[in-house]
Amino acid sequence: MDTAYETIIGLEVHVQLNTKSKIFCGDSTFYGSAPNTLVSAISLAHPGTLPKINEALIPKVIRLGLALESKINPSSTFDRKAYFYPDLPKGYQITQDKNPVLIGGKVTLDEGIVIRLHHSHLEEDAGKSIHHLDPTKTLLDYNRAGTPLLEIVTEPDFRSGEQVEAFLYRLRQLVRYLDISDGNMEQGSLRCDVNVSVRKKGAQNYNNRCEVKNVNSMKFAKQAIEYETRRQIKIMESGEIVSQNTLNFNPETGETTPLRSKEDAPDYRYFPDPDLPPLKITEDEIKVQKENLPLLPWVFEENIMSTYAISESDTKIISAEPQVAEYFLSYAQNHSHQKAFANLLVNKILPFCKNKKVPIQELALNLKHTEEMLDMVAKNIISSSTANQSLFEALLFNPDTSAKILAEQLGLIQSSDVDELSDWIDHTLVAYPEKVKAYRGGKKGLLGFFMGEIMKISKGKANPKKTNALLVKKLDA
Ligand code: ADP
Ligand code: MG
Repeated sequence: MDTAYETIIGLEVHVQLNTKSKIFCGDSTFYGSAPNTLVSAISLAHPGTLPKINEALIPKVIRLGLALESKINPSSTFDRKAYFYPDLPKGYQITQDKNPVLIGGKVTLDEGIVIRLHHSHLEEDAGKSIHHLDPTKTLLDYNRAGTPLLEIVTEPDFRSGEQVEAFLYRLRQLVRYLDISDGNMEQGSLRCDVNVSVRKKGAQNYNNRCEVKNVNSMKFAKQAIEYETRRQIKIMESGEIVSQNTLNFNPETGETTPLRSKEDAPDYRYFPDPDLPPLKITEDEIKVQKENLPLLPWVFEENIMSTYAISESDTKIISAEPQVAEYFLSYAQNHSHQKAFANLLVNKILPFCKNKKVPIQELALNLKHTEEMLDMVAKNIISSSTANQSLFEALLFNPDTSAKILAEQLGLIQSSDVDELSDWIDHTLVAYPEKVKAYRGGKKGLLGFFMGEIMKISKGKANPKKTNALLVKKLDA
């Protein structure tokens, strides 16, 4: 990439809110229902029908506003955005144009980079056009029509695809922690339009931007930005000006293609919706949400790193999903050896859940017994590799039996008994006379080999520290 230029990016992210019913009527929002089964007269915009705001979305919007440090508008209003498209039954979309529900706000990325938000507004989703099922016809499914969306519009503060990826990751994580959306990009619960322009480094003004529509994965967002950056630099290098365009992203080629130019841009003829009163949000409602605000992902991450000295990489994995974060806290707040538990969680518990497709909340692991196991490791009663393998599995399948009893039953208790250790060591040294000779001749690196052999024949039961000391003594004798 040409380093004389920089890329300027702004996002418009649509978050599908996870209310049980639609934004202006009682139709269900259940994903995956048979086509056109969630469509009453209001979803289909029959004449004379009246929309009514779904109040269940108010607490969700407030929670997001609080987490993003936006100003929560006490009285926001709805407008009609007029355009014709077959998946839009009314011929207009109800949205918020002049007076949105959240104003401003910010998201801070890892390196302290702040992405300012312009505003977030409520709107209804359209239906879905299906092109691939019939070779000659476009099919329409109106189930999605009227699903509540919150569109978050950022300032053009991003300078790279990586920053956009990090932002989308944070946002997805946040909406899950706040229980306001499932955040699944593949299912369209989080979709974004990516605005991209390029300018000479050091320039003050922004150049014309292009808007790439309907980017539905973090990878695609990054690809679209990289492609656009190259395309726009090429235009500028040839002495021309990039014209403001709306583009489509093609996930198969990773390229963008023109959808329409600024001149063809539709005039949406926004005007206030006469059927909907302003959406009121009271101080009391905000207070209730503030007092019950779920843990925020960045607060959780900070906390576990500073309180329990969890590594950054383990923290990232543990904080990815709120269920895992809660699971970790349910252990950490009531048990000791939190750092060792974080390790076990990342290396054994989560892979096990993934493998067996068990949600972590349903895992039959007894945390008290797990703590006992980690305590035995800390006290050198069992080795950590034994704990990670045999004993962890035994605990999973015997939630009512204590770790100590299981370890004894399975013969996993580490031996510090000099006679037993000597037996294992002597066995090994007798088996490898050549290597003993080599060691004594100066190949001290063979110590690791001997330790490995001793661990093998002792089935991990030899106390490593004691064994090492005894082994060196015997070899040097
Ligand atoms: P409009 O009013 O035409 O919708 P906005 O100013 O609201 O345009 O911006 C829409 C989106 O485009 C925002 O996410 C904003 O950050 C982004 N944006 C605006 N100008 C630029 C630019 N020059 N380069 C990249 N992104 C931009
Ligand atoms: Mg705008």
